[in-house]
Amino acid sequence: MPEHAHRLPTDTDDGMVLIISGPSGAGKTTITRGVERGIPGSVFSVSATTRQRTDADVEGVDYRFVTDDDFETMKSRGEFLETAGVYGKKYGTPKAWVLEQIKRGRLVILEIDVQGAISVKQQIPDAYAIYILPPSESSLLERLRSRKRESEEIIQRRYEQGRAEIEQARTCGIYNAFIVNDVLEDSIRKAIELVNDERSRRRQGRHA
Ligand code: ADP
Ligand code: 5GP
Repeated sequence: MPEHAHRLPTDTDDGMVLIISGPSGAGKTTITRGVERGIPGSVFSVSATTRQRTDADVEGVDYRFVTDDDFETMKSRGEFLETAGVYGKKYGTPKAWVLEQIKRGRLVILEIDVQGAISVKQQIPDAYAIYILPPSESSLLERLRSRKRESEEIIQRRYEQGRAEIEQARTCGIYNAFIVNDVLEDSIRKAIELVNDERSRRRQGRHA
């Protein structure tokens, strides 16, 4: 943290970005919320998006739902760390907030796609990235349907794009770990363990 920055009593040097990616329906949101609950001081980055809000979404908690014009204005003002087009809609990570939280020593969780993860890793190379895989392709389709969130047409589109994204994730080389989300509690425990191990390794490195 720069010398001149005001340091709060709760600040630490443990700031880390955790990227969680995976195909739609793999269980990212469910696992992310579990990690957030399981790691004190972790915070979830609320992205802006131009996609339609669904009944399951809470404004300001899951996303900031904005118009296309608003999104473009925010982008031109440099408010995003990264932006990406996913399933034909725009998504962006809030830059100033994320950088501030890292400085405060928080674990900052970004639930973003592979393009976004590549972009964040270029800017913040020590970001730690986990990719969530479904146990099988058929379970991915079942989970997408189980949410009862989208029409069958959109579900099919997300399913096809998800399969392509898994291939991209395997080959792009930026993911530190892959978790097959079979039993939910095991996946959450694994993710928490990976993050805690990584943070203590870094802490030891700083004190060496
Ligand atoms: P994503 O955020 O990756 O699109 P969600 O977290 O919305 O996925 O999960 C998709 C659906 O699958 C949800 O209905 C969720 O409750 C369910 N789900 C998540 N993990 C598991 C699991 N391990 N076993 C069975 N169902 C799961
Ligand atoms: P959903 O519409 O299902 O909430 O999200 C669709 C996809 O967009 C998911 O893969 C999610 O991880 C990704 N996503 C959400 N917010 C962002 C963001 O700010 N940036 C990027 N690159 N992807 C995002």
